[in-house]
Amino acid sequence: MTADGMDRSRFDHVPERIGGLVDIAFNLWWSWHPAARVLFKQLNAHAWKESRHNPVQMLREVPVDYLKRAARTPEYLRRYDIIMERYQDYMARKTSWFTGEYSPCRPVTVAYFSAEYGLHHSLPFYAGGLGFLAGDHLKECSDLGVPLVAVGFMYSSGYLHQHIGTDGSQMNIEEILDRDAAPITRVLGESGRQIVVRVPLIEPPIHVAVWKVQVGRVPLYLLDTDIAENRPEHRGISHRLYGGDREERLLQEIVLGIGGRKVLSYLGVHYSGVHINEGHPAFALIERVRERIEQGFSFEDALEQVRGTSVFTTHTPLPAGTDIFPFDMVDRYLRGYYECLGIERDRFLGLGTDPGDPHAGFNMTVFAMRMSAYHNAVSARHGEVTRGMWKGLWPGLPEDRLPIDAITNGVHLQTWLNPRMEDLFDRYIGSVCPYWQMEHDNPVIWELVDEIPDGELWHLHIWLKMKLINRIREMKRRKWAKHQEVPENVVAEGVFLNPSVLTIGFARRFSTYKRADLIFHDLERLKRIVNNRWHPVQIIFAGKAHPDDVGGQDVLRRIYRYAQSSEFGGKIAFVEDYGEQMAQYLVHGVDLWLNNPLPPMEASGTSGMKAAINGVINLSILDGWWVEGYNGRNGWAFGGECVCKDRTDTDAGAIYDLLEQEIVPLYYQTDMDGVPHGWVRTMKESIKSNAPRFCSRRMLKEYVHRYYPRLVSCAGAPLPGAER
Ligand SMILES: *Cc1c(COP(=O)(O)O)cnc(C)c1O
Repeated sequence: MTADGMDRSRFDHVPERIGGLVDIAFNLWWSWHPAARVLFKQLNAHAWKESRHNPVQMLREVPVDYLKRAARTPEYLRRYDIIMERYQDYMARKTSWFTGEYSPCRPVTVAYFSAEYGLHHSLPFYAGGLGFLAGDHLKECSDLGVPLVAVGFMYSSGYLHQHIGTDGSQMNIEEILDRDAAPITRVLGESGRQIVVRVPLIEPPIHVAVWKVQVGRVPLYLLDTDIAENRPEHRGISHRLYGGDREERLLQEIVLGIGGRKVLSYLGVHYSGVHINEGHPAFALIERVRERIEQGFSFEDALEQVRGTSVFTTHTPLPAGTDIFPFDMVDRYLRGYYECLGIERDRFLGLGTDPGDPHAGFNMTVFAMRMSAYHNAVSARHGEVTRGMWKGLWPGLPEDRLPIDAITNGVHLQTWLNPRMEDLFDRYIGSVCPYWQMEHDNPVIWELVDEIPDGELWHLHIWLKMKLINRIREMKRRKWAKHQEVPENVVAEGVFLNPSVLTIGFARRFSTYKRADLIFHDLERLKRIVNNRWHPVQIIFAGKAHPDDVGGQDVLRRIYRYAQSSEFGGKIAFVEDYGEQMAQYLVHGVDLWLNNPLPPMEASGTSGMKAAINGVINLSILDGWWVEGYNGRNGWAFGGECVCKDRTDTDAGAIYDLLEQEIVPLYYQTDMDGVPHGWVRTMKESIKSNAPRFCSRRMLKEYVHRYYPRLVSCAGAPLPGAER
């Protein structure tokens, strides 16, 4: 084995001449570089498909003859050599934006903690938007060369595939991760064995084994409790994302925060700042305090140092969305800390006590706010909401001066932009700005989108739509052929979709606040819109409900029943098992992206950004990112007004009105050349206005400019409760 635990002997069958494929397979760099993926696909397109686009599995399973043939083929080798050189240049930081140091004294590495990461479907460590935001953050750090190490969990058995029964009920089929087929490696110690670290101070002891995913230049360390060293009841801590009861959840957060921090110290990773993504990993900060106390600092000094070097990003616009643990449960596991920190129980528990609701328990968001000096929400609107929620933590400060800032989310362009669309941009933007990929957060270069001939953009879009619909049909066909499907479900899941019909996409987690069923509010009106003889409309739904979310599952069932019903003529489809791969097809291929959560519950929302950069137009309520994104020309908006009563009627009515009066007519208004020029103009406006602003490049630069350099100093914003 090599030092980083990659067991190369498993890949002895890969000819030496193309041995670099093994290196690339274990670095997710391939996942956002289409040309690198093509190297695997060219070995054998069928095996590539069978591997579900996972190069590690592909190299394990592809017949050796194909590898040998590639190693003898000059055309293949020419490409291979170019890609390897690009890869090596990338890894050698020859392409960084971030070349300097944050401060004259020393460079900063930031340690990033998150409970989930959405990186690629071969690594099912995510539930939804929070995870993809974290994944995109890592990829962007890698691209820009921002020094960062990340910590998360290796959820080994918790990925739930969704299957829908004939009555529309959701069944969850667990997938066990095959650790040897995933692009992850064991982190090995000096003995050559995988590193196992004990989570400090917790009784009975809990141990974690350490794995690594290489995300370009950024390492992501994953913790795994499913090892022999642990008691049977503790082995499952890392099995499931947000699984188990309260207590299991607390244990997860202790392992992630405290264990994660310990793992980084054990590995000798030097970093001076910490970025906590949502409240789950906030215990990492208390472990940092403890380490400083061990070095001789007082609790208050240590706390001040830790606060001044920590950023906390909050994503929850609802008090109910934060984790709150009973005080006695916190006592049970963290009692050992009180003494080590040299503080009373009440002082510790006070750090997690919400002054507005002091008996509720230990609140992880409050704790994270108190343990860090820099806080941000994830959109301007969410910033206002968050300041309103937590103003009680800073009594005496006016709301607009609270130390809660907003950095609006963004998506990683290379991950979410379809490669053909990227090629098209390359031809028209790249011919004028050869380095447009490096500066895609610059709005000026996107003006060149206007130079793309309407027909060219339109025909590519239609091609992507056909690809989406073919994919959906093919999935159904396969299940049908295996006798796993009844006819009603084949209809409900999209075999009657038609690429020439205006197609609306709605795909996200089925939480009730997202109101997936809003458009069914007035069934007769919707039927008229959908079944219009000359200007029909079809809607594709996808999304999973949390297994414990009965309300979300009810919404799903209702929609599924409509999809089965002949009254909608096969124009409502529900696609099973929404995940990263289906998300890609949908955000590339539908015409219109619908978003109608109950305001102000959507902190940001990111799927609409993914759609926008691909020329898919947004129809969205004015909440989250769309408050900033909508400019009157780049899509449609509604629901900006404050409705004090139930807003279902108003919002559904606004959607119908927009569809009937503006959207459907614009879509079907084609010229003699068959191109709907008005629609294409809106597509272009959507790309131009959204791509430079809602990309993770703009987002990360904001984190870097506003926070990361300050993480070297110990002078932070005022402690909650103190004047600024
Ligand atoms: C982007 C994405 C999400 C988040 O979408 P929202 O619009 O923010 O809810 C969820 N799941 C998948 C698979 C995604 O790609």
